[in-house]
Amino acid sequence: MKPVAYVRATTVTEAVAAHGGRPGAYYLGGGTNLVDLMKLGVETPHMLVDIARLPLGTVDELPDGGLRIGATVRNSDLAAHPAVRARYPLLSQALLAGASGQLRNAATTGGNLLQRTRCGYFQDLGKPCNKRVPGSGCGARDGVHRDHAVLGHSPHCIATHPSDMAVALAALAATVTLQGRGGERAVPVTEFYRLPGDRPDRDTVIQPSELITGVLLPAHPAGLPSAYRKARDRASYAFALASVAAVLEVVDGLVRHVGLAFGGLAHVPWRAREAEAHLLGAPPTMENISRAVDAELAAAQPLRDNAFKVGLARNLATDVLSRLADRT
Ligand code: SF4
Repeated sequence: MKPVAYVRATTVTEAVAAHGGRPGAYYLGGGTNLVDLMKLGVETPHMLVDIARLPLGTVDELPDGGLRIGATVRNSDLAAHPAVRARYPLLSQALLAGASGQLRNAATTGGNLLQRTRCGYFQDLGKPCNKRVPGSGCGARDGVHRDHAVLGHSPHCIATHPSDMAVALAALAATVTLQGRGGERAVPVTEFYRLPGDRPDRDTVIQPSELITGVLLPAHPAGLPSAYRKARDRASYAFALASVAAVLEVVDGLVRHVGLAFGGLAHVPWRAREAEAHLLGAPPTMENISRAVDAELAAAQPLRDNAFKVGLARNLATDVLSRLADRT
């Protein structure tokens, strides 16, 4: 039996102070990923700071027309929120594509962002994994890696990020707000996650003691075409082989705004800047869409068993974008 200290915080200040940036201190939200990893012995906290009762459980309108989502808002509540469904339908669709109904009822917004990869080697203490034990090697690279990354991976890690929600947030240019001992800061979702490089043990840029307090969504008019599409091995309760989140605004036949992000392809929600640059100012024809998506996926470096993901992502993205173009 390993003793674990438990603190139930009632304010953000109290939670951050209790955590203190100490090694082995973890924030506990819904626990749907952390507790699983504790059972497997992958995560071994010395202290849990329970943040479930912090006053971060609301979705609030911002003066600029955006939304502020509190870190402890449950995934199911966020998916069903009227403002999210009306103005950010791709976010609602992404949330409903993730996990199961029971898990969505427990999982929080902050926890969803911080969930760890589902790479089987990461979860198996008997296997080498640079993310779990830096310097131990990567079992997946020459092992079972059908589900792994095709973009942005490194010799040290080829894992993918598992969140659907984060892919929609990347396409929406959302921002994560953090509170640490040094104060508050805000980080765009696209800069919150790290590529693995030679430090795959670090998933994000979050600092010791920092707590996710919320997510800010920029203003987004109702009716702006957007969608989230996910391809997976079975119809529910499975992680993405590839997914696409897209927002498309067309004015006078030309693309005025596009936000495109891929899931299931990389260590991060992959914002498709190259594709976006090709589409901005151009007519959203099938030819232009295909060329833009191909330009993005030209950077892919598939592994022995996952080259199929490139074609899958290509087909998903061209289909989603062309359907959005038809709606404009
Ligand atoms: Fe570990 Fe990453 Fe390799 Fe998976 S892909 S075994 S998480 S280092």
